[in-house]
Amino acid sequence: MAYDPNNIFARILRGEIPNRTVYDDDFALAFHDINPQAPIHVLVIPKGAYTDLADFGARATPDELAGFFRAVAAVAAQLGIVEPGFRALCNTGSDAHQEVPHFHVHLFAGAPLGPMLAR
Ligand code: AMP
Repeated sequence: MAYDPNNIFARILRGEIPNRTVYDDDFALAFHDINPQAPIHVLVIPKGAYTDLADFGARATPDELAGFFRAVAAVAAQLGIVEPGFRALCNTGSDAHQEVPHFHVHLFAGAPLGPMLAR
């Protein structure tokens, strides 16, 4: 899938749409999800134009890969959720119901999160 430069997270990165930022560095931006599914629900997105995890893993540079996942860890530490724990989730493609075609990691925390998948 070609990257859509007008997707909502690209527009957030360009400052065209407001967000509740929790973390910002050269490689990643983290902000609160607009429709939280847990007491803490934060999205971490790379600064580069990648559609999903598969695209990011295939095309990102080593610096982007390291910088992004260091940022995910930094966000979790900053939010104070490493203990008692959190869930990180990346929806990828239509079967996973990915809505926004810019790679993002959901961080869910703040309560016991239940089973990994709805049954
Ligand atoms: P996904 O289904 O994995 O693509 O998740 C996209 C997520 O983006 C959903 O949880 C939405 O609630 C969230 N979202 C959509 N628009 C915004 C926005 N403007 N600010 C923050 N979160 C958003």
